[in-house]
Amino acid sequence: MPRLTHQQWQALAARQIFEGRAFIDGAYVAAVDGKTFATVNPANKQPLADIAECGTADVERAVAAARAAFEDGRWSGLAPLQRKTVLLKFAELIREHADELALLETLDTGKPISDALGVDVAGTAYCVQWFAEAIDKVGGEVPPLAPNLHGTVTREPIGVVAAVVPWNFPLLMASWKFAPALAAGNSLLLKPSEKSPLTAIRIAALAQQAGIPDGVFNVLPGAGETGRLLALHRDVDCLAFTGSTAVGKKIMACAAESNLKRVWLELGGKSPNIVLDDCPDVAQAARAAAGGIFFNQGEMCSAGSRVLVQRGVYAEFMAELKQAAEGYRPGDPLNPATGMGAIVDELQYRRVLDYIEIGKQEAKLAFGGHAVHTDTGYYIAPTAFETTPDTRIAREEIFGPVCAVIPFDSADEAIAIANDSDYGLAAAVWTRDVSRAHLLARRLRAGTVWINCYDEGGDQNLPFGGYKQSGNGRDKSLHALEKYTELKSTLLKLSC
Ligand code: NAD
Repeated sequence: MPRLTHQQWQALAARQIFEGRAFIDGAYVAAVDGKTFATVNPANKQPLADIAECGTADVERAVAAARAAFEDGRWSGLAPLQRKTVLLKFAELIREHADELALLETLDTGKPISDALGVDVAGTAYCVQWFAEAIDKVGGEVPPLAPNLHGTVTREPIGVVAAVVPWNFPLLMASWKFAPALAAGNSLLLKPSEKSPLTAIRIAALAQQAGIPDGVFNVLPGAGETGRLLALHRDVDCLAFTGSTAVGKKIMACAAESNLKRVWLELGGKSPNIVLDDCPDVAQAARAAAGGIFFNQGEMCSAGSRVLVQRGVYAEFMAELKQAAEGYRPGDPLNPATGMGAIVDELQYRRVLDYIEIGKQEAKLAFGGHAVHTDTGYYIAPTAFETTPDTRIAREEIFGPVCAVIPFDSADEAIAIANDSDYGLAAAVWTRDVSRAHLLARRLRAGTVWINCYDEGGDQNLPFGGYKQSGNGRDKSLHALEKYTELKSTLLKLSC
């Protein structure tokens, strides 16, 4: 991967041309009614491009194109090996265009360019490659039946899949949906967040270049209304969603109101990161805790936003956390040395600042607690509060660089605090006692438990998803294919 300097990224940004149209049935098109919305660079508050705002007519066109493609088998009817070949080419093209895609992601979201390259784009290419490589290796079952019966259990693509995704890792979260959905043979409608549509729009052309047939990969930019139209559509067979719990509930209601489409939800979190007195290395735990909440400006579903620290190591931990937070000083996202970028937009920036004000009322500010570079863009200093489990900042998802640190006395108390949440996405435990680590991990009601690390989640072999109101189903791993396929039992009575 070429290493560019700050100046080179700035020069590329100045020259960048933005495609803002929808991608339907193999072509870029404006919204039928001509509506657009602006996408803004949060690092400097400058508009980047006008984006097509897809309404009913666009959704109808795209669903019809996806349905036609699915029914005539131009993709769904290919041998898995053929789909694999095309998807491997797609992964290769993503890698070839890594700089451009990372630049678009950084300009649109404010995330540091090094993260956009190393995490978002690299993770997207890896995800597409992983599902490409998997799809010609997974077979069905021949169940044990009576001697006069022969049966098979097979997985078939579900049909037309809509993916409605958020803005924190726009391309990566999209790929966790579109890679398994496409590998399984479905047609896809991707609805990126209105805050970050640029990479989804751009990648559609790469999908086409790789050989994904027209009508199979469609991108419908728009706000929540576009997502709602997809959730209500009777010819969409499955809706895979990543976003807030509040919108997830609305999507489920839309499915219930329309055609009972399969709904898969990856939602919010308030993940506990538990540091016990026998933690192997307090400084390391504090560095990981800082990464767990300040990486990606804290705009992470799996953010370790509740750090539970046992009293024996509390003072040492707080000192180390403050020091580790220094590595996340907000700066220009186009500078490869920047550890933390800008908050995605004004709305989210104000939301986070409001929570900081609430925190100042109900808890003790440990560090941070203010906006920075206010004349330039939407930047917030890494912030930590020392608090108790019942405060709003310790219970509600803030989705910004704000950490609630909670002291505790016993491991039992920590588990009770950790599980006392509507969410159950992730958790972590720090202890040098392996048995204790496993025993505590079993008691944590969360889809992922890290032991002596935080957010080590890049490997596609690990399923990702939530307990409770953090969602249902799992992204990543072979389990993700379950979301995009129907199971069929076929039974033959043998004449013997
Ligand atoms: P959001 O729920 O506001 O929006 C997500 C997507 O849903 C966007 O594309 C939006 O346009 C669309 N949408 C909004 N209203 C809709 C409606 N009524 N019907 C259909 N679609 C609608 O979430 P966000 O602010 O983009 O993202 C932040 C949230 O996402 C956080 O809660 C975070 O925890 C969650 N998230 C979860 C995961 C995970 O894997 N569990 C990953 C990333 C983000």
